Amino acid sequence: MTDKRLIKVDDIRKTADERKCPVEKALFYITEFLAGPMCGKCFPCSMGSYEARAVLNNMTDGKAAEEDLFKLRRIASGMLIGSMCKKGKDTGRFILRWIDTAGFAGHMEGICPERTCSAYIEYTIVTAKCTMCGECLTACKYGAIYGERRRAFISGYRPFEIRRTKCVKCGECVPACPEKAIVVVDAKVKEAETVAT
Ligand code: SF4
Ligand code: SF4
Ligand code: SF4
Repeated sequence: MTDKRLIKVDDIRKTADERKCPVEKALFYITEFLAGPMCGKCFPCSMGSYEARAVLNNMTDGKAAEEDLFKLRRIASGMLIGSMCKKGKDTGRFILRWIDTAGFAGHMEGICPERTCSAYIEYTIVTAKCTMCGECLTACKYGAIYGERRRAFISGYRPFEIRRTKCVKCGECVPACPEKAIVVVDAKVKEAETVAT
């Protein structure tokens, strides 16, 4: 097993950069930094890292608030200025690099623009595209999809739908659908549509 203390900040940055959502990038970076290279010898970096992780967790969990952005900027700036070594400064710099992007702003509005943070998305079936083949029923291990397979000469089918209360947002039904009828939508928009109907 790799000793996490030996992991280099540059390697963490590279893996973090592979993520699409900037909030997820920052959370991944700080989580890995805390698990490995962060040695705890100076306060701005050690305390700042724990605080930044708490704020970023809040943001990806769907509880982002405007004050989180101010708090995170303050923490990251403190890390950049006050950290004793390059590792802490680079971590503060990484957060500041992404904080003013549309991705962060979107989370403040209750939307993950990259549609990757599960708290901000829903999986849904586009009825007009669904041929009621039933492939998704087999793909979903969580019993979250309801519907009746189409059978010849029988009418009155129950349309296919995804139950929000059971869906764990694993995404496995998406590639299983031959019609590309299962799509990811913004949870906020979906909720507004449900209230309106
Ligand atoms: S800035 Fe450097 S010395 Fe200070 S806690 Fe972070 S890793 Fe340790
Ligand atoms: S995202 Fe996962 S849990 Fe949700 S309906 Fe699709 S397969 Fe089932
Ligand atoms: S796999 Fe696609 S087309 Fe088939 S029933 Fe499910 S949503 Fe409809």
